[in-house]
Amino acid sequence: MESRIDRIKKLLHSASYKLTPQRESTVRVLLENEKDHLSAEDVYLLVKEKSPEIGLATVYRTLELLTELKIVDKINFGDGVSRYDLRQEGAAHFHHHLVCLECGAVDEIQEDLLVDVEKIVEKDWNFKVKDHRLTFHGICHRCHDGLDDQE
Ligand SMILES: [Zn+2]
Ligand SMILES: [Zn+2]
Ligand SMILES: [Zn+2]
Repeated sequence: MESRIDRIKKLLHSASYKLTPQRESTVRVLLENEKDHLSAEDVYLLVKEKSPEIGLATVYRTLELLTELKIVDKINFGDGVSRYDLRQEGAAHFHHHLVCLECGAVDEIQEDLLVDVEKIVEKDWNFKVKDHRLTFHGICHRCHDGLDDQE
């Protein structure tokens, strides 16, 4: 965790920003809840447990800054809520999501899987792919196993 904080600190420095204590508490909450897809409000409530003096506006501005610097990605799963997701270190593109229609679980696929698709888009549309968002909606393996049991 400390080495990742250090690397995020360096990314901020190289963009002429400081890792202030408020920003650091926000980054720590994101690292500690990396598997989750937290809204600004969720992040704020968790930051507040450790640093009660921090306001929602400060947390929100930090999340926007981290998004701008591509340390986190902002994502919306169709419920109108923006969620903040740490980008895998060194990943060129954003990871994919599997959203379960039954239980609402969100799983991640870290492999890009789209290399061939990107080549087609670049060639046929003369479009330089910088990133992509891919969300699959369906039934997760846990709910699927449950369905099998009922049969
Ligand atoms: Zn994710
Ligand atoms: Zn499910
Ligand atoms: Zn890709």
